[in-house]
Amino acid sequence: MYYGFDVGGTKIEFGAFNEKLERVATERVPTPTDDYSLLVETIAGLVAKYDQELGCEGKIGLGLPGMEDADDDTVLTVNIPAAKGKPLRHDLEARIGRRVKVENDANCFALSEAWDDELKDEESVMGLILGTGFGGGLIYEGKVFSGRNNVAGEMGHMRLPLDAWLHLGENAPMLDCGCGNKGCIDNYLSGRGFELLYAHYFGEKKKAIDIIGAYNEGEAQAVEHVERFMELLAICFANLFTANDPHVVVLGGGLSNFELIYQEMPKRVPKHLLSVAKCPKIVKAKHGDSGGVRGAAFLNIKD
Ligand SMILES: [Zn+2]
Repeated sequence: MYYGFDVGGTKIEFGAFNEKLERVATERVPTPTDDYSLLVETIAGLVAKYDQELGCEGKIGLGLPGMEDADDDTVLTVNIPAAKGKPLRHDLEARIGRRVKVENDANCFALSEAWDDELKDEESVMGLILGTGFGGGLIYEGKVFSGRNNVAGEMGHMRLPLDAWLHLGENAPMLDCGCGNKGCIDNYLSGRGFELLYAHYFGEKKKAIDIIGAYNEGEAQAVEHVERFMELLAICFANLFTANDPHVVVLGGGLSNFELIYQEMPKRVPKHLLSVAKCPKIVKAKHGDSGGVRGAAFLNIKD
């Protein structure tokens, strides 16, 4: 049995999955955001409860909005103050007496999709989230590749490629990023970026959903914006694909519901790739909101 915990800023979602990767139990509890010992006890309590209920000792995986410091294994996160700077994995292992795996939640999203029935035989899967921000995860042969510092897949903090900058033209906006750098693609490709760019070029604040609605009605400003955005997305994707050459790319997050992306990328990406490369298959995520808990559980499928 595989236990997954998707630990978020407001709630912890627990899921138990059997050997066929079918979900057999679900529970959601509030995250004790300011009480570390209660956080440890909450997770340990759920493990004990479901061990008893399911008659097993589930393997434990944890997904977090953050990551572990690679040198001392303390948690780097802003959304769960209680866990910040704490060796959560070690404390859970000591409390539960079992190994615990911890991963960034975007990596869990990618892993969840990579183990979908249709993708599980793919050698590599790149998961990209076009949500409030832009992020992702890299899965090789069914396992997360997290790199030396656990930041592999943090593609949102790669700076805008030069060809993307030129595409945005003389009036290109140099956007500040929450990480302290300027020009991180997180601020351009995300749902937030979609709205920021619209506001920058047209001096008018509009929600992504309304811009897309106007685009569907053929409104000139929205058409111009979507045209600019699709090409920007294609250029950035092509740069990422050239560096990583994934077999399949899965898109998640709110903006991934914009169907036009799946029509436009195969047409636009190839001209920005190396000539020997072909555009990988780009598909929409299937597991949506349950991606975090699934991916956390699936951290233990392969050792
Ligand atoms: Zn950044």
